[in-house]
Amino acid sequence: MKHTALAAAVLGALLGRPALAEVPPPRDVAYPGTLSLEVDATDLSHRIFRVHEDVPVQAGPLTLLYPAWIPGHHSQSGPIDKVAGIEISANGQAIPWERDQGNVYAFHLTVPEDVDRIRVDFEFLSPQNREQGRVVMTPEMLNLQWNTVAFYPAGYYSRRIQVAASVTLPAGWHLATALEEESHNGDSHTFKTIDFENLVDSPIFAGIHFKRIDLDPGAKIPVHLNVFADKAKDLEASDEALKAHRALVQQVYKVYGTQHYDHYDFLLAVTDKMSHIGLEHHRSSENGVNENYFTEWDKSWMSRDLLPHEFNHSWDGKYRRPAGVWTPNFNEVKRDHGLWVYEGQTQYWGFVFAARSGLWSQDHAMDMMARLAATYDKGRPGMVWRNILDTTNDPTMAHRRPKPFRNYQMSEDYYSGGQLIWLAVDAKLRELSHDKHSLDDFTKAFFGVNPGAWDVDTFEFDDIVKTLDGIEKFDWAGFLDDRLKGHVNLSRSMQDQGWQLVYDDKASDAIKASEKRYKGIDFLYSLGFMVGKDGNLHDVLWDSPAFNAGLSPSMTIVAVNGEQFDPDVLKDAVAAAKDDTTPIALLVKSFNQYHTVTIDYHGGLKYPHLVRIKGKKDYLGEVLKAR
Ligand SMILES: [Zn+2]
Repeated sequence: MKHTALAAAVLGALLGRPALAEVPPPRDVAYPGTLSLEVDATDLSHRIFRVHEDVPVQAGPLTLLYPAWIPGHHSQSGPIDKVAGIEISANGQAIPWERDQGNVYAFHLTVPEDVDRIRVDFEFLSPQNREQGRVVMTPEMLNLQWNTVAFYPAGYYSRRIQVAASVTLPAGWHLATALEEESHNGDSHTFKTIDFENLVDSPIFAGIHFKRIDLDPGAKIPVHLNVFADKAKDLEASDEALKAHRALVQQVYKVYGTQHYDHYDFLLAVTDKMSHIGLEHHRSSENGVNENYFTEWDKSWMSRDLLPHEFNHSWDGKYRRPAGVWTPNFNEVKRDHGLWVYEGQTQYWGFVFAARSGLWSQDHAMDMMARLAATYDKGRPGMVWRNILDTTNDPTMAHRRPKPFRNYQMSEDYYSGGQLIWLAVDAKLRELSHDKHSLDDFTKAFFGVNPGAWDVDTFEFDDIVKTLDGIEKFDWAGFLDDRLKGHVNLSRSMQDQGWQLVYDDKASDAIKASEKRYKGIDFLYSLGFMVGKDGNLHDVLWDSPAFNAGLSPSMTIVAVNGEQFDPDVLKDAVAAAKDDTTPIALLVKSFNQYHTVTIDYHGGLKYPHLVRIKGKKDYLGEVLKAR
C-alpha cells in the first residue's frame, strides 16, 4: 500500500466509513418472502437478457450473490464478467452498492429504513462469439440458464430461498424446461414458485423450430426429448433413431430400477450455431449436437453417448453426490476429489448405455473402448508426475482452457481414467463372483435407492468400499487406491475384461470419426501427433518420436520428404518408411522460420483395436449387451 492510499484509508476510518462487510455464511433457515425474477429474452440482435428482480428485504446490511460455483462445471465459472448495468433501488430511490474486495461475486449494500423490497435491474450480455464464451442466443434458439440472470441473498441455503420466475420469449417461440408452468400470457411464461437451487437446476431451451417426443409412452413418470433445431427439417428423427432413444430409457431403468425425478426432460439443441453443451440436472439435461444428428444418422454416431451420459447423472452426480461437491449455495467452494465417481462412472455408463440402447453398434462401442485403452497403453505421459485423483483439481486449475502439452499435463482424466477404473471393478466383481455379479449390481445398490427422492444424498470413499464389499468381499480400498494413485496401468482393465489392445495400419471408424470431429489426422500412435489438414500440429505426445525429434504443437508441417504437405503424403511416407532405414524429413514452420526435422521412425501407421484373448472370458461383450 502506498503512503497516500494508507493515508486515505486512515482518514476514511477516522471519518467513520463502515468497515469492510463480511459475506454471511449460508444457514439452513427459510428466507423470509419470495423473490420475483423476470427475464426478458427477446433482444436477439444484441443477445442481451434483461433482468428485473424483486427481493424482499429487511432494513440494514445485505449481501447479494451472483452464482459462482455452477453444479456440473466443477469450478468457479459463473459469468460475472458479462453482468452489466446493475442498478439497485427501492421506491424509486437508487441504493448504492459496493462489490466485495475479495469476492467479485458478492455485492454489499445497506437497505434503508422502511424498505421491505428492493429492485435489482441488470443485463446479462451473452457472448457474441465463442472466444467470449458459450453462444446461447441465435436467430433460431436460446439457452437460458437461471444462474446467469439472478442474484440471491447471502446467508441462506439456496434451497431455502423461494423464487417466482418468469421469462418473455421472442414472438411465437416454444420452450422446454423441467420447471412447471403456472400461466402464460402471449410469449410471457410464469413458472410455479420453486426454490433457488432447483430453479438453477432447471434451465430453459427455447426456439422457433421445436418438436417434443415422448420417450416412454404410457409411463407414470414421463420422459420427453425436447428437440430444437436451426432448421425445421433437422427435427425429423427416423424410426431407428427414435427406437434407440426410447431403448435408452428402458436400459437405464433396468440397471437403476428407480427414478430420482417426477418427470424428465432432455433438452436437445440440434445446431451448428448455438454453442454445444452437455450439462446434467436432476430432472433435465442440456445437450447440444451437430445439425446432422438426425438427418445423417449413420455419420453422427460418435456424439451419441452424450444423452446416455447426461441422463445417467440424474442418479450419479445429482441425486448421489460426492460430499465435497455438494455445497449449501452456489458461492461456497466445491471440493472435486470425488469426480472419478461422479464423472468417471458416468463416463463408463455413457459408453455402456449407448451400446445397450443401440445408439452405438457393438462395433462402435468396441472401437471407442480401444481408443480409450490406447490413451493409457504406453503409460499416459502425464502419469509419471500426477495421478487420476490429482486430475480432479483440473476444472478449478485450468477452466478447460487449451493446454500446450495436454497429454503430459493431463487434463480432466478422471473421466476416461475413472471409466477404466470402473471397467476394472466390473471385471473383478465378475471374477470374484464367478459371473454372478457385475458393476450393474453395485450401481443399483449404490445409486438406485430411495425411489422418487430428488434432494441430494452425499457419499464418501468409504461408502463405495462398503457397498462393493457387500456384493463381494475384497480389499476394494486397496484396489481403487492403486488405480487412483497410478500404481496400475489403467489400460490393463481391457485385459481383465478379456480383450487385448493391438495396433494395425487400419484406422477404425472411431478414429475416422474423431479425425472428423477434431479436424485433425491421427498419427498419435505412430509418429506421435494429431495434425490438421493445413499441416498445423494440434497435439504432440510427450516423449514420442515426433517430440524427441523437436516437434511442438505450435509448428506447421509444410513439406514431407520434399513434397508439399498433405495428410495422404504423410501417411504414404510413414508407410514407406516401414521398409526403409531413411528417416522421414519434415520441413516445418515456426513463427517466420523454416527448418527440417528428421524423424527416425519405422513402425508404420498404427491405430488401436481390441481382439479377444483366447481362453479368457469375454466380460466386455457381456457389459455391452442389452439387458
Ligand atoms: Zn458428466
